[in-house]
Amino acid sequence: MKKYLQGKRGADLLHDPLLNKGTAFTATERDALGLRGLVPPHIHTQAEQVHRVLQSFRRKPNELEKYIYLIALQERNESLFYRVVMDHLSEMMPIIYTPTVGQACQRWGHIFRRSRGLYITASDRGRIAQLLRNWPHTDVRMIVVTDGERILGLGDLGANGMGIPVGKLSLYTACAGVHPAQCLPIMLDVGTNTDSLLADPLYIGTPLKRLRGPLYDELLEEFVNAVQVQFPQACLQFEDFGNANAFALLQRYRDKICTFNDDIQGTAGVTLSGLCSATRLTGVKLTHMRILFYGAGEAGIGIGDLIVEALKAEGIPEAVARRQCWYVDSKGLVVRSRTDLVNHKLRFAHDHAPVSDLLAVVDDLKPHALVGVSGTPGAFTESIVQAMARHNPRPIIFALSNPTSKSECTAEQAYTWSEGRAIFASGSPFAPVTLNGRTHVSGQGNNSYIFPGVGLGVIASQSSRVTDEMFFAAAKTLASLVTPGDLAIGRVYPDLVRIREVSAAIALAVAEVAFNRGFARQIRPANMAELIRAQMFQPDYEDYV
Ligand code: NAD
Repeated sequence: MKKYLQGKRGADLLHDPLLNKGTAFTATERDALGLRGLVPPHIHTQAEQVHRVLQSFRRKPNELEKYIYLIALQERNESLFYRVVMDHLSEMMPIIYTPTVGQACQRWGHIFRRSRGLYITASDRGRIAQLLRNWPHTDVRMIVVTDGERILGLGDLGANGMGIPVGKLSLYTACAGVHPAQCLPIMLDVGTNTDSLLADPLYIGTPLKRLRGPLYDELLEEFVNAVQVQFPQACLQFEDFGNANAFALLQRYRDKICTFNDDIQGTAGVTLSGLCSATRLTGVKLTHMRILFYGAGEAGIGIGDLIVEALKAEGIPEAVARRQCWYVDSKGLVVRSRTDLVNHKLRFAHDHAPVSDLLAVVDDLKPHALVGVSGTPGAFTESIVQAMARHNPRPIIFALSNPTSKSECTAEQAYTWSEGRAIFASGSPFAPVTLNGRTHVSGQGNNSYIFPGVGLGVIASQSSRVTDEMFFAAAKTLASLVTPGDLAIGRVYPDLVRIREVSAAIALAVAEVAFNRGFARQIRPANMAELIRAQMFQPDYEDYV
């Protein structure tokens, strides 16, 4: 942090969240930096401050109030915020990320206190570079950008979607140690088609219908080019775009700049990893697995594509690999005879009679795994879970839709209806479930296991691209860290408390790919693992004088 001091003193220092230590400024710092009298006399340690924060946090009456409290802390004192989040990750993550961040986005204009990140609107065309130059930090390495069209499974929240880039970047820092000064959340406010937001006087975005067509594409092109000039070392993560734009943007930029789409590729990584770990419980290898996706959007198709890559790496021909992945969308089973399929679904449209009902599809295909990525709560009914349990001794059921209110079924339902045999994971966390004296701990199949480590690896290697091979490497690494103890309680992901170790290992695997494929823009260090570890931000207070 000291390098960001740059002559700051007194109130300026206290009001800079990157540098502020509040009551923890030492006597020497108070004298040397013009702080004496501006902070209460008692000098507290960071541990004492954490104690105070936790007391206040736990007194809040509900999750949204907890969110507001934590964000206010982040805006006051980033080191303390990250200390609290990192040391109490299981408690804090559902607040700063899914599910509570979803509620926060829905209420963003109403809970708004202080601006965080950069807002770029359609009327900023021609001056986006200038807006990027307004950002106070120059060494930006990770940008998360959204246009708010598909926020979690909550739909079009327009500029209110800013909570997602803010939350994701907090996880880059908390889970992988990407320095907060290197993180930039961006909202591309291109309007919203949600009438309730347009009618809300407290909405913080431009109250106009969504920009579409060539004007949208031109704005995006100007934005991407401006980022390349202003922050040439940054990785640009596209987040929560509507699915047509998400696929198109990934296609347009993935081979030109350092970019990825977390909904497509990050979700793929975490799900592939969960499926690989599940094979250790089912005994059915990935090469023999039939996987049925409920939802054929960004997440579903992204996962299928990565599974195909994984199967090809095992020597399975692509056409055969594709037939292991089946999809049901809002119109039923995705089959070749359908005439309503958009481009990204075509590669998974197989020869089969049309079937509209999920239960009938399960009974017909007898999948080993059922993966929910539809944003449709309750879609995995008792009869569907029972059908999965009828066809499999250990049915794999992943209800990945976020937030919790959109989950295809709950952990309790999956375990109860399958008589405790389901291998269950969900996008948002569920509490452990005790059934007939046995406690089942479900895993959180959330891309937060993947993207922080991928980002760290890309930054550490200064990679010029983010490739599917990197997500494949990340998935394998994540799966390799699942212990027999995790599996024994039913969890196909490592314990979240190990997330920094997990992210460091993923970063190393990703950096290896970057060096092996010639994407790294630096000399390969003698000890990459050490370089990664040394780069990871620690939220300890540093002496400024
Ligand atoms: P998307 O809009 O691209 O795709 C949604 C898909 O669901 C579409 O194919 C649509 O046809 C299908 N669908 C909608 N209603 C349906 C119904 N009633 N029956 C069958 N199919 C239906 O969205 P996406 O990006 O793929 O995200 C989908 C969900 O997955 C969201 O809830 C999102 O939060 C969640 N997700 C979770 C993670 C994670 O890490 N766990 C990551 C990304 C997305």
